[in-house]
Amino acid sequence: KNRDIRVLRAPVICVLGHVDHGKTKILDKLRRTNVQEGEVGGITQQIGATNVPAEAIANQTKMVKPAFSIDQIDFPGLLIIDTPGHESFSNLRSRGSSLCDMAILVVDITQGLEPQTIESIELLKKRKTPFVVALNKVDRVFEWEGNQHKDIKEVVQAQAEFAKNDFERRVKEITIRLNEQGLNAALFYENPDPRTYVSLVPTSAITGDGMGNLIALICTMCQAKLAPQLRYSEELQCVVLEVKTIQGYGTTIDVILVNGRLREGDNIVLAGTEGPIVTQIRSLLMPKPLKEIRVKGSYDEFKEIKAAQGVKIAAKELDKAIAGLSLRVAQHEDEISVLKEVVHKDFTLAMKAIKVKDRGVYVQASTLGALEALLEFFKTKGIPYSGIRVGPVVKRDVMKAAAMLEHDDKYAVILAFDVKVDRDAQELADREGVIIFSEETIYHLGDRYVEFLEEHKR
Ligand code: GDP
Ligand code: MG
Repeated sequence: KNRDIRVLRAPVICVLGHVDHGKTKILDKLRRTNVQEGEVGGITQQIGATNVPAEAIANQTKMVKPAFSIDQIDFPGLLIIDTPGHESFSNLRSRGSSLCDMAILVVDITQGLEPQTIESIELLKKRKTPFVVALNKVDRVFEWEGNQHKDIKEVVQAQAEFAKNDFERRVKEITIRLNEQGLNAALFYENPDPRTYVSLVPTSAITGDGMGNLIALICTMCQAKLAPQLRYSEELQCVVLEVKTIQGYGTTIDVILVNGRLREGDNIVLAGTEGPIVTQIRSLLMPKPLKEIRVKGSYDEFKEIKAAQGVKIAAKELDKAIAGLSLRVAQHEDEISVLKEVVHKDFTLAMKAIKVKDRGVYVQASTLGALEALLEFFKTKGIPYSGIRVGPVVKRDVMKAAAMLEHDDKYAVILAFDVKVDRDAQELADREGVIIFSEETIYHLGDRYVEFLEEHKR
């Protein structure tokens, strides 16, 4: 009826939470059920996202009571983004606010709130993103009897005494922990006021319990809260999620196209480590549908793609691209210089928002989101930073870090996350006495510096 894809676009939903609580599995389950059921409505894997069309939503929510029918869905579907780290979530923004319309915070019901759960809550609050909590792994509740074909409320009520008690005790415990984080929370079917209480949905990504309720609740919330912001706009809103090298295509960027459209041959402008990059879209790529993937990483090419979608862009000059900011399209040649300024401004604003100290280490990362996640982590460890940059370690960085030698040599250190260190830069560092720590996980990097400080004291 009023579901008109020309009016509303698919909401962008992020999945956040502590490692191993089941973020990826929840998406796997969504996709797999669908494949088993003959791909009704076709849930598809996209670049960095899973596309759940309205038909598939209707199909996946059949068990929900009261019935949640397709007539109730006013948008073309959901675009769900799996975020391996917070970096990717931080990346999803434009002009300082999140591009993610809603989020699913996954909490393992047997583990409760853990450090990354709390960090995720902080991020969601900061970006004012509405969210629901999936109390995942409910199948692990003692003597739990699952039933994916029933509404989860009925499944809970049908549990034997022991399982019910175990379940209730865990829900209560998690509710208290959420209260401590400044959140009111309640099971979604007991929620006294969805505007001020976060809804908890018991789920199992293994048995499928509660998955229908989770999808239905997200749709209901998107409709109730977000209709105005989901109005499709031709004005481009597109954010670079990741920069990746792909065989046969060179360096590519993965983007989330939230509004507007991209076309092959478009002139694009985006942030790069050496200033704005101007290039032309050579190919717009999306993964082939699941059943057609024979060779891993084979893509279909498109002439034009309309929001909301996850897309891979192949073009020249992308090797210095920075993930985490908007991508712009120049409709005419003469727009390019203006857009370069806009992109430059976006980037300087994001960097200026990060406050550096006079004395401290020099920090480098591969993406803006990663840099911010890293700095947040260093703050909790009490590690001060005086300089920051997105991009590989080059001589210029070493010279900047070397300036700390005059003040305090424990700060003449470069902490490099997931970036290359130029050989020239390493040689200069060795000569000057600047130490470069290079790691691929945030935690290791922090730990190595803390170890270094202990050594330094002796
Ligand atoms: P992520 O790190 O949050 O993406 O977590 P994963 O989706 O990779 O899941 C971590 C582990 O938990 C995997 O071994 C999953 O099979 C398991 N797992 C995820 N969801 C469930 C669930 O609902 N029930 C049970 N029993 N195991 C689960
Ligand atoms: Mg995962």
